[in-house]
Amino acid sequence: MAILLDGKNVAQSIKDGLRRDVLSLKKEGRGAPVLACVAVGKDPASAVYIRSQDAAARDLGIEYRLISFGEDITQEGLVSEIRGLNTDKGIHAVMIQSPLPKHLDIGKLVGFILPAKDAEGIHPENLGRLFLGQGKIAPPTAAACMELLRHSGVKLFGKEAVVVGHSNIVGKPLSLMLLKEFATTTVCHIATSEAGKLRDHVARAEILIVAVGQAQLVKGSWIKEGAVVLDVGINRAGGRIVGDVEFDEAQKRAAYITPVPGGVGPLTVTMLMRNTVELFKG
Ligand code: NDP
Repeated sequence: MAILLDGKNVAQSIKDGLRRDVLSLKKEGRGAPVLACVAVGKDPASAVYIRSQDAAARDLGIEYRLISFGEDITQEGLVSEIRGLNTDKGIHAVMIQSPLPKHLDIGKLVGFILPAKDAEGIHPENLGRLFLGQGKIAPPTAAACMELLRHSGVKLFGKEAVVVGHSNIVGKPLSLMLLKEFATTTVCHIATSEAGKLRDHVARAEILIVAVGQAQLVKGSWIKEGAVVLDVGINRAGGRIVGDVEFDEAQKRAAYITPVPGGVGPLTVTMLMRNTVELFKG
């Protein structure tokens, strides 16, 4: 039976360190880091994330400012608000809560955030640094996965790592971070599935990370014996939250596995806070 990688546990020691950092910055007279979250409309899932960001920030002594707009705000209007946050010396980190209404282009909006205030590490300049292996700020979910792997104690050097999903916030940055640790990294996506090759790739994975958003897409029977399995997916199915991996079967084969909920999720918000503190320190 697999050992559970408990995100809350791993987050705890990182949070203790951040709390101490923030306290000593305040004692030095530098004030508290301030994270501004730009949100548009009333998406119910976003409201849950916003509450958890607010609670995490409060817990660590970080100031969290929610800047909300109605769905009628235009792309130009939002760009001008972001520019205002960039020049505001009292704001140290900025993020845009997704999803945004369809008329707003998050990919383009992120490019207007000052790279030095980019809390999610998704500005092209920060992603470029990550590509070059020089990134100080990484997208929080990808960073959370790397922390869980570190916590497992499993060495990545020379391991077969398979990432399922190639989004800009999870799969792609994570594949670069695995590469930096010398894992032999394969990235799968929709075409892998459509070509009928997903199962074969999963079956080779010594390190498997799935970030797709489809309930139990990866069957437990596909998992290699002794693999480390990180399930990023959050899906509502049958009145409960499930991941992208068929957990009950997968835990019989894996050496380590994250539960959903309680695995990657609780660490993601901690990584956002860590980025905020790093940006504040400059
Ligand atoms: P996106 O929708 O942006 O990306 C999903 C990726 O999965 C795409 O690259 C897509 O490929 C790929 N994909 C879709 N269907 C298949 C398939 N059948 N086989 C293989 N690949 C497929 O999602 P995110 O990366 O933002 O999020 C993924 C999941 O992780 C979601 O459930 C989300 O809720 C969750 N999440 C959890 C977080 C946490 O903290 N735990 C944080 C962020 C996200 P293509 O583009 O080629 O179609």
